[in-house]
Amino acid sequence: MQYPAPISKLIDGFMKLPGIGPKTASRLAFYVLNMKEDDVLDFAKALVNAKRDLTHCSSCFYITDQDPCIICDDSHRDRSVICVVEDSKDVMAMEKMQEYNGLYHVLHGAISPMDGIGPEDIRIPELIKRLQDETVQEVIIASNPSIEGEATAMYLSRMIKPTGIRVTRLAHGLPVGGDLEYADEVTLSRAVEGRREL
Ligand SMILES: [Zn+2]
Repeated sequence: MQYPAPISKLIDGFMKLPGIGPKTASRLAFYVLNMKEDDVLDFAKALVNAKRDLTHCSSCFYITDQDPCIICDDSHRDRSVICVVEDSKDVMAMEKMQEYNGLYHVLHGAISPMDGIGPEDIRIPELIKRLQDETVQEVIIASNPSIEGEATAMYLSRMIKPTGIRVTRLAHGLPVGGDLEYADEVTLSRAVEGRREL
């Protein structure tokens, strides 16, 4: 016994989203059936518009509906610092901190030889090109504290340091309440490297 085609299609649609299995997909699909028609239309429009209207900033590759993006376009931003992140979501995280006032560069991934992702497959060549502009004095590498994030940081550091631009890395501390023995080696070694005087 199968569901009518429209609901099966909706379930299939939800299953294409990350972290959603068949059970959750059918729960969501049936939930949509019970929603008000206007709310469903708004939701559908939001999906289509987001896909249609959003693009990546041609300078920093942050997700945007205007080019250059609102950050690159802001004349109050410090143009001598570029913070390199893996994902547009990381820009949001940094912005929430309300302490950083420089520019960004979104790589859209990290170097991962295991997955066949090299420097040319993410926005590294574009970053190197941006650095030829003499206003940049520091690059803060804020890639994730993962094997791939570390590989990316190492690569960038090797590429950028010879140009005389300062390269720094966010010190990733141990999670609060975490137990040292359960910390993975990458986190631990970053924590040691980023240690400060007490
Ligand atoms: Zn931008």
